[in-house]
Amino acid sequence: MRILLVEDNRRFGALLTEHLTDHGHVVDCAATAADFRELALTFAHDLYIVDLGLPDGDGIDLIAELRRAGCTKPILIITARGGVEDRVRGLDRGADDYLVKPFNYRELLARIRALSRRPAAVEPDRVEAGDIVFDRTSGEFFSGGRRIDLRPSERRLLALMICRSGRLVSRATIEGALQCVGGERSPNAIDKLVSRLRRTLREAGAGIAVKTVKGAGYVLDEAS
Ligand code: CA
Repeated sequence: MRILLVEDNRRFGALLTEHLTDHGHVVDCAATAADFRELALTFAHDLYIVDLGLPDGDGIDLIAELRRAGCTKPILIITARGGVEDRVRGLDRGADDYLVKPFNYRELLARIRALSRRPAAVEPDRVEAGDIVFDRTSGEFFSGGRRIDLRPSERRLLALMICRSGRLVSRATIEGALQCVGGERSPNAIDKLVSRLRRTLREAGAGIAVKTVKGAGYVLDEAS
């Protein structure tokens, strides 16, 4: 595999490169964010290993840039920052995995193997349908840049439907998804919820509507 590594500790970067090369990988090693950007533009890589603390920037920004540019290859963070917040932030910005320093080389190689087995299918951060934008990081919905106020059960239903926009969502799927949200247990709970969501979408000028497919379920589609 051709790997692009960014690590500002040159000695550690050289050791990592040696170790990865010993295991059959081709490694381009950058010591700064600027070098990383240049190498990323020049060559096609199969995997990225990104240190977060860099002299001229934050590795998390590099990861976000790669993803914005449409990169779907695996990205592994290596860093001394082991806190939950840092890990969540790194993963939310597009990394696939996270290794806290100091780590064992065997574990690094195992993570690389695991990442290379994954299909390069990255879930987008934003899903759009009609005039609605669903920010999957915050879990919020926006219409014309304004946040839509939704109850927890409406939010869950809309999230379920917008990620399957234009496709049938069965009542069974909806029932399953709503099980964790309390207060929706009566037989016509789904019907009530759907009509509430329909009203919310209309009021928000969403340009999309929940349509009934008789006897099967619902489809989120352009409002007629
Ligand atoms: Ca560093």
